[in-house]
Amino acid sequence: MNTTIARPLQTEAVTRARAVEQLVTGLPTSDGAGVKLTRVLTQQFQRRLDPFLMLDAFGTDNPDDYIGGFPDHPHRGFETVTYMIAGQMRHRDSFGHEGLLRNGGVQWMTAGSGIVHSELPEQADGRMEGFQLWLNLRSRDKMRAPWYRDIQSAEIPEFTTPDGVAARVIAGRSHGVGGAMEREVTEPLYLDLQLPAGATFAHALQAKFNAFVYVYRGAVDIAGTRVPAQRMAILKNAADSDGVVLRAVEQARVLLIAGLPLNEPIAQHGPFVMNTRDELIAAVQDYQAGKFSAAAPGA
Ligand code: FE
Repeated sequence: MNTTIARPLQTEAVTRARAVEQLVTGLPTSDGAGVKLTRVLTQQFQRRLDPFLMLDAFGTDNPDDYIGGFPDHPHRGFETVTYMIAGQMRHRDSFGHEGLLRNGGVQWMTAGSGIVHSELPEQADGRMEGFQLWLNLRSRDKMRAPWYRDIQSAEIPEFTTPDGVAARVIAGRSHGVGGAMEREVTEPLYLDLQLPAGATFAHALQAKFNAFVYVYRGAVDIAGTRVPAQRMAILKNAADSDGVVLRAVEQARVLLIAGLPLNEPIAQHGPFVMNTRDELIAAVQDYQAGKFSAAAPGA
């Protein structure tokens, strides 16, 4: 299936563009079996950027930085969205599912009530690059049955604006083009944009949406603030703003991510994200009791 659309179906009218509230530099860290990555959206910002809990960027040509991958680990209470720019990652979970994530593809996983999975590179050399975003679930959806979808690159709707900006709509809707995923409640928008130098991209966005931009190549200007590569720009939610406008200072690749806040308490213990401490204790106990799999008694 080829969902590439030559031109946008609608224009996005933005007259009062959002300003940048803060520029954030990612934190180099490692996770899983020693995978080197940059934590762009850290715990410090998960209130401000509710419903988003985390964004990790990984990108390296050195297999030593990724070869160990992420062996078996649990999740409960939210969704993980893994987007591969380069390389291949195989995932296997405690419900017997398995899939291969290739260049340009996305895995959208609802951990819900609990899953144990591994995410392992299926390559021993070459470049591995991508992102993992954590999207929170509202309280009453946290214990939903686990679910996932592997979205191949060709299934992600794309369009090119008259300015030459190539947009991939992973989630939400832009310029009248519906994304590979559309979600209720938090209504996430997830765009991957390639902008030629000097090009402008506008996207209408109500002020109540929390939104940020991550520049992973080149540099863009947002309402007069230059956002260089490897920076996250948190966008202001000024009540009279109606969208965001990006202008490429040089050729650039950026993620534009937005969603409606849940405004619920966030309690996190590593890979468990619930609303209260008691729910976290229950999550750890259930995981240790082996309840995060299809074979679990009563599952
Ligand atoms: Fe995981």
